[in-house]
Amino acid sequence: MNKFMYKMANFFQGRYGIDELYKFLFILFWIIAILSLFIRNPIIYLIEMLICVFMFFRALSRNIYKRQNENMKYLKIRDKVKGKINLQKRKWADRNTHIYRKCPNCKAEIRLPKKKGKHVCTCPSCKKDFDVKCR
Ligand SMILES: [Zn+2]
Repeated sequence: MNKFMYKMANFFQGRYGIDELYKFLFILFWIIAILSLFIRNPIIYLIEMLICVFMFFRALSRNIYKRQNENMKYLKIRDKVKGKINLQKRKWADRNTHIYRKCPNCKAEIRLPKKKGKHVCTCPSCKKDFDVKCR
């Protein structure tokens, strides 16, 4: 190994590197970069630069514990958003056969067969009854 490669390997030793948050920021960076080609605005440019700096800061950081925590927070938010999107997809897919209602007691989302009229429904998670109207 030549001297340069040795120095590079030494530099990256113990650094945090790339994770899911990095990948997300990378995509976000490019979306904003492409947007800024059309919208010439110093604030957009500033945001772009901040994302870039944050990406490099995280990848080269030696505080691995803190970076992992940031990544965990990001993953939690991402999973929540994904879950909501999937629920909307499911609602749309069976809009003709089922209705979705929130339990007034525990706020759980319940999938019910679509039958016209008034019904009494028992929540599967908290076992409380509540009225459901279906048009
Ligand atoms: Zn409930």
